[in-house]
Amino acid sequence: MARIAFIGLGNMGGGMAANLAKAGHAVHAFDLSADALARAEAAGCTAAASAVAAAEGAEAVVTMLPAGRHVAEVYAALFPVLSGNALLIDCSTIDVATARAVAGDAAARGLVAVDAPVSGGIAAAAAGTLTFMVGGDDDGFARAEPILSQMGKAVIRAGGNGAGQAAKMCNNMILGATMVATCEAFVLAERLGLDAQAFYDIASVSSGQSWSMTSYCPVPGVGPVTPADNDYRGGFATALMLKDLRLATDAAADAGSPVPMGDRARDLYEALAAAGQGDRDFSAMRPFLRDGRNH
Ligand code: NAD
Repeated sequence: MARIAFIGLGNMGGGMAANLAKAGHAVHAFDLSADALARAEAAGCTAAASAVAAAEGAEAVVTMLPAGRHVAEVYAALFPVLSGNALLIDCSTIDVATARAVAGDAAARGLVAVDAPVSGGIAAAAAGTLTFMVGGDDDGFARAEPILSQMGKAVIRAGGNGAGQAAKMCNNMILGATMVATCEAFVLAERLGLDAQAFYDIASVSSGQSWSMTSYCPVPGVGPVTPADNDYRGGFATALMLKDLRLATDAAADAGSPVPMGDRARDLYEALAAAGQGDRDFSAMRPFLRDGRNH
C-alpha cells in the first residue's frame, strides 16, 4: 500500500479519497475547505495542514480540482517537496495545454505525471465506479492504473500527456450535442401531437437512439429513472456541462477544427445557465426549450 497525497476533496474528490483509504492506502488529504477536510478525515484519510504537507514523502499525488489554474498552482507549490519517484495523477477536467504544461514541468524535475479525467458523477465517485481516461507515457500509465482501478470500474489509456483531457472534452461535446438534439426532438414530437412514451419506444430502438435518450431520458416518467424524474435535480449540473463545452470549443478554436454542433450546444447551455438553471441537471434543456425562460 502506498502513501498517497490527495488534494481537492469536493463532490468528486471526497468519495475518491475515501475509496483509496478504504483500499488500505495511507491517504494524506488536503482541501482549502475545512468541512471537506473533516469529511475526508472521517472517511479514513489523514488531514494535512497544507497541500505541501500532504505531499511530503508521498509516492503518488492525486488532484481533483476545479480548473486548470488550480491544478497549475497546486503542482507549482508541490514540485519542490516531491521526491524523485513520485507519480502525479491529475483527475480534474482541465484544458489540454495546462495538462501538457504540468507534465512537462514534472518531467523536467524527473517526475512522471498523467492526466486522468473521469466519466461518472458524484455517485460513481462515492461508489468507486468511475471511468478514467488516461494520458501519459507507458511508465506513467502502468503506475497509475492500479491506483485508479481502486476508484473506478474502467481505466483506459487514451494516449500521451493531454490525451485523457482530449478524450474527456470530445466525449462530453458529443453528450452536450446529443442531449440538446434529444430534448428538441421530444419537444417537437409533443407539439406534433406525438405521445412522449410512444416516441421513446420508437426512437430508442431506431437510429435516433443515443445514451442521452435511453440512459438519461430528459422526459419525466419516460425511460429509466433520471434527474428528469426529480425535477432536474442531482445528476450532472448545467454549469459543469457548460465548463466542458467551453473547454472543447476553446480547444477546437485553438486547433482550427470546426465544431458547429459543439458551438451551438455551448451557446444553448450558456443561455440555460444565464436563465438561472446552472445548478439544474443538464437535461433541463428540455423544459427550457419547451417553455422558455419562465420554466
Ligand atoms: P468541487 O468544487 O466540489 O471540488 C473541488 C474542491 O477543490 C473544493 O473542495 C475546493 O475547496 C478544492 N480546492 C480548490 N482549490 C484548491 C487548492 N488550491 N488546494 C486545495 N483544494 C482546493 O468540484 P467537483 O464536482 O468535485 O469537481 C472536481 C473536478 O472533477 C472538476 O474538474 C470537474 O469538472 C470534474 N468532474 C466533476 C464531475 C461532477 O459530476 N461533479 C464529473 C466529472 C468530472
